[in-house]
Parts: sequence; structure tokens; C-alpha cells
Amino acid sequence: MTLPPGTDLGPFASLAEDLQEITEALAATSTEREVIAIVLTPAVRALGAVAGIVLLVDQTDQQMKIAGSQGYESGTPTVWQEGPIEDHVLIADILRMREALYFEHAGALKEAYPELESRTGGLAAIANATLPMFLDDQPLGVIVLDFKEPHHFSPAERHFLKILSAQCAIALGRTRLLDDLERQVATRTRQLENQARAQEAFVAFTEAVGTNTDLLALAQQAITVLRARFHDATIVYYTRDGDLWKAQAWSEDLSEALVVSLTAGLPSSTPLIRRAINAGTAVFTNGWDAEQEQIEHSEAYSTAAGFPLTVDDEIRHLVLFGLKDTPRWTERDQSLVRAVGRSLTLAVERAHGVAQLAQRTQELERSNTELEQFAYIASHDLQAPIRAVTSFAGIIHKRYGDSLDERGQLYLRQIMESGEHMKRLVDDLLAFSRVHTEQQPLLPTDAENVFDAVASRLQTSGVTLIRSALPVVQTDGQQLDQLLQNLISNGLKYRREGVVPEVEVTAQRDGAWWRFAVSDNGIGIEPQYYERIFEIFQRLHGRESYEGTGIGLAVCKKIVERHGGQLWLESVPGKGSTFFFTLPEA
Ligand code: ADP
Repeated sequence: MTLPPGTDLGPFASLAEDLQEITEALAATSTEREVIAIVLTPAVRALGAVAGIVLLVDQTDQQMKIAGSQGYESGTPTVWQEGPIEDHVLIADILRMREALYFEHAGALKEAYPELESRTGGLAAIANATLPMFLDDQPLGVIVLDFKEPHHFSPAERHFLKILSAQCAIALGRTRLLDDLERQVATRTRQLENQARAQEAFVAFTEAVGTNTDLLALAQQAITVLRARFHDATIVYYTRDGDLWKAQAWSEDLSEALVVSLTAGLPSSTPLIRRAINAGTAVFTNGWDAEQEQIEHSEAYSTAAGFPLTVDDEIRHLVLFGLKDTPRWTERDQSLVRAVGRSLTLAVERAHGVAQLAQRTQELERSNTELEQFAYIASHDLQAPIRAVTSFAGIIHKRYGDSLDERGQLYLRQIMESGEHMKRLVDDLLAFSRVHTEQQPLLPTDAENVFDAVASRLQTSGVTLIRSALPVVQTDGQQLDQLLQNLISNGLKYRREGVVPEVEVTAQRDGAWWRFAVSDNGIGIEPQYYERIFEIFQRLHGRESYEGTGIGLAVCKKIVERHGGQLWLESVPGKGSTFFFTLPEA
């Protein structure tokens, strides 16, 4: 430590040593309290003061605060008390002049600053030294030394105190910087942690959007994502119900009063809702006026946003935001809100699609069951009147046929033919509905026996029916009978002019399944009709060329599907067709 030349240290050479020690000790400090303890102790001791105190200026409210003291008796009031700077006339003077003040003789301090004692109720010291501390031109505070005897402050002592207060100011400045830095690091760490949390939540949300179809759960997750970023936000998800928008999910901070009014619903005329609907996209407002915005109990908010969720060109849901401590929306925050909005829209669209599909399937199932019941009842109840028509037509033919003229006979024939066709229709419809209504359990069934029974019914002189070895399969025997009967009779019916109709049934193993093939040498089918012919009432020919109802293959399809199998065909027009179906092994 170098002192200005000519400084006479004389008997105070130890002061220089003290300064040296103090400087070293200060270098190791990191808190204000440590700095003050290190400075006060040697100052009081070296100069023989009775007490010392450090008062610092609080920059936020311009008050003097006691940072540390030494030697004052507790319980005895001093003249050094906390309070506004301007009340401390002495300190204010020193900080203004940037000069230390020394009061060496008894009564000098009291004389110069009489209000010290009257204001504080404390006793002014006999002698006193008060030194200002500055850092970068900013007043930091003062170091005060009080003496109970008159004291002459030699140039060496004054020099010592000057350097001491400068050192103290620098050390205090350093601890403040450290504090600041620590605070900054902590804030930044918190920010980064929040960002990481927000990011994680966002990733989880985007993943959920891809799979989850539970709309409310997704909305709740979106709210969590947004809350991770906007801690001061209240976020509410609404679904439209007529002209009202009813809250269905919300962030947990939502006040009870708001929950009540938002779940009851906000009208579409609510300004923020109207703005979002009109814009068709996210809207952001800076500044919030609860009265103007017509949302009761929303006074706590300072700004807001809303985004509509559009499905099938229709806005069905809304997400509204209120921010409590954020006066303005930044570009970045706006894009985050938009991104979440877009994801949620996708999810909503998908969820709606799935819900619609489920509903449609349910409706279809219901109408199918109804149709079957209707078909069964209708065909069942139609049987008696049809029988009456055909049998009476038969009687007329038999008894009065001869007395009818040609036209009368033609009409009668048409009545009889129509009656028969109606009977077939009713029989086939009954068979169609019975596939579901009259099911037998699936049991091991010998397909050879079934084929033989069917063949014996269909075998006539002009046709060939053959089979290879057939397996035992796990089926409803009656349905297998019906299946083979329909396919074989079609094979015989759709015969080619001048060719003896031949139908062959074979079977091949295919894993746990048996694949049957029913092949004919008939007229064949054009590929474009491969699907259509399995639909009920779909026929490729008029009844004048081939009699039929268009129900047989629809029945076959139902039977095979009931067994979990498949039915399809291959065909060469003009050569023949092969219908394949699979049934489970026994
Ligand atoms: P239907 O035989 O009573 O008309 P199906 O449902 O059994 O009703 O058959 C639907 C249509 O498929 C038939 O009208 C016919 O045009 C065509 N078809 C079915 N089986 C054959 C086959 N083996 N060969 C050629 N065409 C066929």
C-alpha cells in the first residue's frame, strides 16, 4: 500500500498495517454484513472511538438504513436512526458535499446540528467523524465514528479514514454486483426451467393430439401447456350450446365466481367472443376493461386473447385467455398461442370425425337390425296372403280355365307367375333375415355330408355335380347348407346355351382356415360387377332370361361373414365362374 509522499505516519504507522489487513480481508468478503464488520472493528479500535455505525442509502425509497453498528449500548437511543435522507441533515450535507465532517471538541456536533438530538431523542457524541461513501458517483451511505472524549483527527487518521471508506464502498459495490448476478442467474435459471417445462408439456400435448380423441382431456392438456408458459393466465375452453358458449375446462386458478358465470355460458355477443368468431382466427387484445368486455368478475385481468376452433367450417369451440400481469402480447407469445390453437383444432377435427363415425356405425347397426326385423315380420306375414292368391289363382285355372278367353288366360298366368315370384321373394327375404335371427352354434360339421344333401336336392338329369374330398369345418350346419345351395344353384342357373352345366366343389387348407371353391362352366361375370352382385336385390339379368330375386349372394355373404370368413370370386365371361369362401377349421 503506497501512501502519498510526505504523509507523516509517525506514531500511526500501525494504521498503514491495519489498512493492509483490511484490504486483504475485504477481498474475501461476499456479503454486505461481512464488509461492514471488517470495516467497523479496526476503525473503532484504531482511532479509539467508542462506537461506529454504517448507514446506507436504500436506492428504491431514498431512506437511510442501518447496515451495521458497533459499540452502542443497546437500549440507549442514538442520534443515528433509520429514516428519509432529508431528515438526516448532517448525512444529507455530507453526501451532497462529498466531504467528511469532523467534530473534534465537546459540543461542536451538537452546535452544528442541534436538531440531531431533538429529532431522535438520542445523545450526540462528544467528538465525531462522519465519512461519505460513493460508488460510480452514486451515494452509498456513511461511516460514522463516535467518541466520548474530544478527539483530534490527525492528517494520518483522516487519510486512513478516507481510504477506509473508499475501500468499504468498493467492497460494498462488489457484494451488490454479486447479489445482482446471483439474482440474474436465479431468474434466468427459473426462466429456463419454465421454458423447459413448457416445452415438455407442449411435446406431450402434440403427441397426445396425435392419438387422443377425448376432446375434454385434450383441451385440459392444452390449458396445462399454455399455463406452463403463461403463469398469470386464466385459460378457459368453451363449447357452443345454441347461442351460448359454455365453459367446459379451465385452468385451476379460475375464481369460483367466474366458474359459475362461465359454465352458465357467455352469449355470442360478448365482445371478445364476437371478435374471435369474426376473425375466425386467434385474436389478441392489449388492455382489458371488464365492463366494456361484458364478462363479469374479470376485473383482475390486464389483457386477453381468444382463439376459435373450427370444425367442418363451423366454430364449435373457443379458448379464451386472460392474463393478469402481462400488459402486452409479444410476437413470440402470440405464435405459441397460435401453435397450440392449430394443434387443438386438428385434435378437435379428428375427435369429431371419430365421434361421427362411431355415431354413424351405431346408426347403421340399428337400422340394420331394424331392417332385419322388418324383413322378417314382413316376409313372415306376407306368406299367408300370397299363398291365398296363388292357390285361388290355381283353383280358377283348374275350374274355370277353359271358359276364359285367351286374354283372360294370359292375365291369370301373370297372376300365378307374379304370385310365385312374390313367394320366392318372401322366402329369400326370410332366409336373409334368418341368417341373424336364427343362428345355431358353430360346431364341427362334415362339409361332405352337407354337400351330399344339397346335391341330392339339386341333382337333375341334365346337370353334373361333383366334389373333391371336403373337410370338417367349424360351422352352423344349416347355414353351410344354405351357402352351398345358393352357390351351386347359381352355378346351375347361370348356364351357357348348349353346354351341360357342371358345378364342382373343392376345398384347400389355408392356415387355420379352409378355402372352398364352387366352380361352374356358365356364362361368367364381368369384373366390374364383382362387388355389386353381393348386394341385396342387385341382379345382372332380367327375370325373362334368368329367374331370381337378387338376394341369394347377399345371404351367402352374411353367412360367411358371420363365421369370420371371406367370400369372393374369379370369373372368365363366357367360360365360367368360381366363388371362393373361407370357413374356420374344426
Ligand atoms: P339371383 O340369382 O336371385 O339373381 P344372387 O344374389 O344369387 O341373385 O345373384 C346376383 C346376381 O349375380 C345374379 O342375378 C347374376 O347376375 C349374378 N350371378 C350370381 N351367380 C352367378 C354365376 N354363378 N354365374 C354368373 N352370374 C352369376
